[in-house]
Amino acid sequence: MDIDQTKIPQATAKRLPLYYRFLEGLQASGKHRVSSSELSEAVKVDSATIRRDFSYFGALGKKGYGYNVNYLLTFFRKTLDQDELTKVTLVGVGNLGTAFLNYNFSKSNNTRIEMAFDVADDKVGKEIGDVPVYHLDEFKNRIEDSNVEVVILTVPSQAAQSIADQLVEAGIKGILNFTPARISVPDDVRVHHIDLSVELQSLIYFLKHYPLK
Ligand code: ATP
Repeated sequence: MDIDQTKIPQATAKRLPLYYRFLEGLQASGKHRVSSSELSEAVKVDSATIRRDFSYFGALGKKGYGYNVNYLLTFFRKTLDQDELTKVTLVGVGNLGTAFLNYNFSKSNNTRIEMAFDVADDKVGKEIGDVPVYHLDEFKNRIEDSNVEVVILTVPSQAAQSIADQLVEAGIKGILNFTPARISVPDDVRVHHIDLSVELQSLIYFLKHYPLK
């Protein structure tokens, strides 16, 4: 199962965590195989897309049998590095940041927020959901020893760009940006942008203009 991961299209790669979560649930409930239509129903991706996605890593479902759950999970674990604990950090311990610290991905996979940063006196020095909150000035020193490359950014949007510059300077390679600000980073840094209010507006728009039958 030696797959060249650079050949997996980005759109496919983005769906892998979705598949992974569902398959993990299946395995936990003792199921050993799954059909593409069953998967399709559960993750809301059409079955032709699922078949194409799976074909990139050599999982060819058998007619009348479906896909082998264990095979798929072994592959996904490898690809998503689920066997290793991925440590991430969070900057901005406001309402949203606090919710992430309490949630801390504990149920879904092996990603963990290791530490958090803020500048406010009433946040720095605290522990939230077992995660210590440090002053942002300590960012570079703290991450140097801990192998962290990814930051969840939940600061006010006016502060987002200057903080992003600071994170990049410290060696961060990925930013999950929850602020509405579009931040600029060098080419070797990846930013994924999640604007919850835009997502919500878009859902409402689609419901209104493209109602499902
Ligand atoms: P949220 O938007 O997460 O719901 P909120 O409304 O409680 O948060 P915001 O004003 O958006 O608060 O600030 C989010 C957090 O970012 C706060 O904890 C604030 O102290 C922190 N923050 C503000 N400026 C900076 C900065 N320059 N560096 C790091 N953290 C900052």
